[in-house]
Amino acid sequence: MAIERTLSILKPDACLRNLTGRIMTVIEDSGLRVVAGKRLQLTQERAEAFYAVHKDRPFFGDLVSYMISGPVEVRVLEGEGAVAKYREIMGATNPAEAADGTIRKLFAENVERNSVHGSDSQENAAKEIAFFFTPEEFTG
Ligand code: UDP
Ligand code: MG
Repeated sequence: MAIERTLSILKPDACLRNLTGRIMTVIEDSGLRVVAGKRLQLTQERAEAFYAVHKDRPFFGDLVSYMISGPVEVRVLEGEGAVAKYREIMGATNPAEAADGTIRKLFAENVERNSVHGSDSQENAAKEIAFFFTPEEFTG
């Protein structure tokens, strides 16, 4: 499998509960490597733009309110098959359905406050990475 990059977000519930270190340990133990990262506060407009694909879903308004309720940490993760690998260690969207040992099983509060975001395809990863990062923000 090829070396890929994917976008990770540690969501407000993770940042506000001081869980970022523990979640990053799970991510780093999987072999994925951080090549860019920062903590920031999303605005309503930026959160709506990031989740525009879900704008017609019933949960969209609540999701945007939640995503601006505290800081987020955005990172680019790199590694063999990074998109699928990160989705696997994140676990299912609903933590009640997430496999044992996954980030969402370990840390998520509910289907909305589920601690982490991960890109779902290489195409979306490229778009999401460009949404948050400029080329100058990457390390080797
Ligand atoms: N979400 C929600 N209710 C739902 C489905 C999703 O609040 O019924 C939220 C949740 O925070 C999720 C995000 O919307 O992570 C994006 O949904 P998606 O289906 O893309 O799930 P993901 O790719 O994050 O697993
Ligand atoms: Mg998704």
